[in-house]
Amino acid sequence: MQNTATPTHCPYCALQCGMNLTPAPDGTVVVSERADFPVNRGALCGKGRTSAEVLARNVRLTSPLVRDEAGKLVPASWDEALDRIATGLGRTRAEHGPDAVGVFGGGGLTNEKAYTLGKFARVVLGTSQIDYNGRFCMSSAAAAGIKAFGLDRGLPFPLEDIPKSGCVILVGSNLAETMPPSLRFFTELKENGGTLIVIDPRRTKTAEQADLHLAPRPGTDLALALGLLHLVIAEGRVDEEYVKERTAGWEDARAAAMAHWPEYVERITGVSVPQLREVVQMFCEPESAMVLTARGPEQQSKGTDTVGAWINLCLATGRAGRPRSGYGCLTGQGNGQGGREHGQKADQLPGYRKLDDPAARAHVAEVWGVDPDSLPGPGRSAYELLDALGTDIRSLLLMASNPVVSAPRAAHIEERIRSLDFLAVCDVVLSETAELADVVLPVTQWAEETGTTTNLEGRVLLRRRAITPPDGIRSDLEVLHELAARLGVEKGFPTDPEEVFEELRRASAGGAADYSGITYRRLAEENGVFWPCPAAVEAADADEDALPGGEAPAVHPGTPRLFLDRFATPDGRARFVPVSHRATAEEPDEEYPVLLTTGRVVAQYQSGAQTRRVAELNAAAPGPFVELHPRLAARLGAAEGDPVAVVSRRGRAVAPARITHAIRPDTVFMPFHWPGEGRANTLTNPALDPTSRMPEFKACAVRLEAVER
Ligand code: SF4
Repeated sequence: MQNTATPTHCPYCALQCGMNLTPAPDGTVVVSERADFPVNRGALCGKGRTSAEVLARNVRLTSPLVRDEAGKLVPASWDEALDRIATGLGRTRAEHGPDAVGVFGGGGLTNEKAYTLGKFARVVLGTSQIDYNGRFCMSSAAAAGIKAFGLDRGLPFPLEDIPKSGCVILVGSNLAETMPPSLRFFTELKENGGTLIVIDPRRTKTAEQADLHLAPRPGTDLALALGLLHLVIAEGRVDEEYVKERTAGWEDARAAAMAHWPEYVERITGVSVPQLREVVQMFCEPESAMVLTARGPEQQSKGTDTVGAWINLCLATGRAGRPRSGYGCLTGQGNGQGGREHGQKADQLPGYRKLDDPAARAHVAEVWGVDPDSLPGPGRSAYELLDALGTDIRSLLLMASNPVVSAPRAAHIEERIRSLDFLAVCDVVLSETAELADVVLPVTQWAEETGTTTNLEGRVLLRRRAITPPDGIRSDLEVLHELAARLGVEKGFPTDPEEVFEELRRASAGGAADYSGITYRRLAEENGVFWPCPAAVEAADADEDALPGGEAPAVHPGTPRLFLDRFATPDGRARFVPVSHRATAEEPDEEYPVLLTTGRVVAQYQSGAQTRRVAELNAAAPGPFVELHPRLAARLGAAEGDPVAVVSRRGRAVAPARITHAIRPDTVFMPFHWPGEGRANTLTNPALDPTSRMPEFKACAVRLEAVER
């Protein structure tokens, strides 16, 4: 490798910020500004800036590990480790059938890896039991988007449209901490005269930037959206012409909203009627407006309906599918978008095709060279899959995920993982889940391999290999190639990412997420391409915004903006979905009188498996805490920093008190990045949304107990 800067993208969140990587003479890698990528224009948060530290040998895994007879993980050769995995998975399949083998992926995997993992599960193992941690990220927004628009792409417009809008309602997103470089779009929005409304039970760093901050009770965002729609109707602000021309199902949605009187909504949410009216005025007055949701409204047992209610508001006011307007989801994980498009989701095949659609099965089976009837059907969702470990599912292959920390009801999930007959984990570090494995494989990191990701805008990006991995490390694609061969499938699992991408293009062709017109060369030259981007161009597909001047493109330009002419439904109309308020699965009561909500801090990423190993990030955010209101602290007799026990029906977590007026008095907050005594997910409720199967991370009932020092 040359000592020159390689332009690539951050390994962490869904912004996929551009960065340059340069190998230094001392063997380290320097991360530097890359100003040509429009999403971050050179800015990086602390996680991205320090990301190269996880490449160091003393932080990462450098040898396969196998569990010895004494029960310890010890170094082993690649052949021994791969043989053990093939034997472990193969034995389970032979003794209990293919569905007794599970596969669990991650939203950090590149498109090529997610695609290959899905193919490996269905073609090599023959199992239906595959899902991934992205189910815990954006699945409710995806389900609601498909219901309403016929298509789910996180943002149907580029981030650069945000500053040009008249008003943005940000629901349950603390992007100032989760993706700090994105804050500039909202600062520019305000500089341009637009308004920002933030809805969050906590006065977060993002809420501090808002023109108006509403702090509803956790779990009541659905009622809030219904109350706003009620007022839109009552105040005569419905865009009747748009509703008539571009939507279907209005009357039922209208009737449902009219049943949610503002005073009733005020009682449910704690948001006053005057504040509701203020939101309606701010949202409806400008020519353009957006609603953007994140995990707050989505990680609920009614997440799909909640997002549906916000989409209804956008439809009734004529916002969706119009310039600088509409609904979007701020996907969280690095490749959370691409990860859900290419087949590691329990119910989907590449190209965002449905696994139970005969035409989709036939298309993908042809690309894969297998009989469509040999492909298994849909499997369990992520939590249900993890909950079945040790019972129906006896062996598990896990890549790029750490459910011991990140799954809801985590102590129970840890117990299920411990009860497996066999567990193999591929990761870059020895995560808390890898510590429980029979075999651990050390795999390459983002800087050491080429591959594509798809960011939260639906922009497909090329991550380039900048350095050579240390000896003893292999890529996930090599692992799957080797395992396929050992399990009797010699062909169809290439190790070259571009070769995989070429197959993915064919598999996705004609699907909702069509990548067939995208090549590595284009990605390198164009700094990313928005899907859908079919190989065959029809004049009507040409995007005027992408090609100023209107000349006929030689290739499809990609689709930065969706739905401007029609939605992706059979008749081109968006669908209103009639929804009504319902309570969280676990409301506070005498025994558990307080609501717990969970989330993130700026210096840690997801389960913290990587970022907890970076000194600067650890110094900034060394451990969990319980954020609570002074009134609640006084009742408990707790002072700042005192250990507080938070107890739910699923367990107990202890962390220092952080006392602040920035949270509702009926709610406590814990970040979820840490294992052990302060593990927030010990407490969370796995009640699932009936459509998306999203667990209710954002609201459960707890009680607080003082802890003796
Ligand atoms: Fe990386 Fe996200 Fe930070 Fe950008 S905001 S540097 S993508 S973690």
